[in-house]
Amino acid sequence: MKSYQEMSKEELLQEKESLKAAYKEYQKMDLSLNMARGKPAVEQLDMVMDILDVLDSKSEMVAENGIDVRNYGEMDGIPEAKKLMADMMGTKAENVLVFGNASLTIMYDTVSRSMTHGVCGSTPWCHLDKIKFLCPVPGYDRHFAITEHFGIEMINIPMTEDGPDMDMVEQYVNNDPSVKGIWCVPKYSNPQGYVYSDETVKRFAALKPAAEDFRIFWDNSYVVHHLYEDRQAELLDIISECEKAGNPDIVYEFASTSKVTFAGAGIAAMASSKKNLDFIRKSMTIQTIGYDKVNQYRHIKYFKDLDGIKAKMKQHADILRPKFEMVDEILTKELEGLGIGTWTKPLGGYFITFETLEGCATSVVKKAKEAGVVLTGAGAPFPYGTDPRDFVIRIAPSYPTLEELRQAAEVFVLCVKLASVEKLLEA
Ligand code: PMP
Repeated sequence: MKSYQEMSKEELLQEKESLKAAYKEYQKMDLSLNMARGKPAVEQLDMVMDILDVLDSKSEMVAENGIDVRNYGEMDGIPEAKKLMADMMGTKAENVLVFGNASLTIMYDTVSRSMTHGVCGSTPWCHLDKIKFLCPVPGYDRHFAITEHFGIEMINIPMTEDGPDMDMVEQYVNNDPSVKGIWCVPKYSNPQGYVYSDETVKRFAALKPAAEDFRIFWDNSYVVHHLYEDRQAELLDIISECEKAGNPDIVYEFASTSKVTFAGAGIAAMASSKKNLDFIRKSMTIQTIGYDKVNQYRHIKYFKDLDGIKAKMKQHADILRPKFEMVDEILTKELEGLGIGTWTKPLGGYFITFETLEGCATSVVKKAKEAGVVLTGAGAPFPYGTDPRDFVIRIAPSYPTLEELRQAAEVFVLCVKLASVEKLLEA
């Protein structure tokens, strides 16, 4: 098969005409498909409905330490929830605080608290002239939205298959005291599905920050979200690596059960050092008299322990895996050898990243939309919504049904081809 780059102008023009005809056919179908957000499918949510059966009016409602989960108090979370979330993150219960229904809120609050009250006694960030965060790209748009919201300057750090470019990270963190944080999704990263290597984790733990209030924001949201039983990625525990490196305070880790039970109605937690947690507890006592311990208790009754979570994740994987594989199959069948795109093949998480020819991503997303397929906006996985090379597209295969996904992926490849032909004809 000839790649598009090898085609003559005439061949490209001919290809363009036949692609346009096919595109028009799709437009006539009045499709309304969505591959934009990483939402669990209805089928996945249905599969967890029995969590609502574990409590009723006759339930005991007493945590293992004897406290009544229906009442105020136990601000850190009930002990068994701390243990469950610690086991999920691969750390110790003493390092964990359990919060409310979503981890993004904890991340927002953590940045917000640092702005207004500093970090463990340092100057509040809002009193400093310049605050910067490092942003591995492509990354999670909602992370970047938080730092943008607080006027924090964001610096792009290229991702590799092993994690962020650590030479660059070290260069910034170890030399620039205005660099206060970095956003990381270390396992099955959003959107590439990459997993940080042991060396990357160790280099993070061994950072020598120029700023005493620098922190790594380690968003381990896909920690148990494997697609394959026999090919599960392993990630080193950042908390113990930081302890070993003599840097116990430089990391906050976040996780939730949003994509284990119900999105937005799960439980969320943070893990960190005693010093950091003690500082955070001080604000927490002002913010709340306690989070939703009934939901924590419900999750404990439902899962019992980490094995319960793992068993549920296997069921989620059985629904998600065919979707990822179908997208990969269609991309391979339709695009392999054409020289107009590459894509990741994640072993977990919720996303696939597609890279177009430079300057084509916006055009692909627009064309797809006009044919009834909504994709995540081009540029979204970058700070300020700007992809400097306009070539990254995040594909979220989880929500549509398999049949919808097939159609959406077929429209997508057609749009990639059409945008590429147009680009090459421009040159
Ligand atoms: N972090 C990442 C990397 C995510 O992809 C998502 C969900 N898309 C979240 C956090 C949101 O987690 P939560 O529901 O716990 O706020």
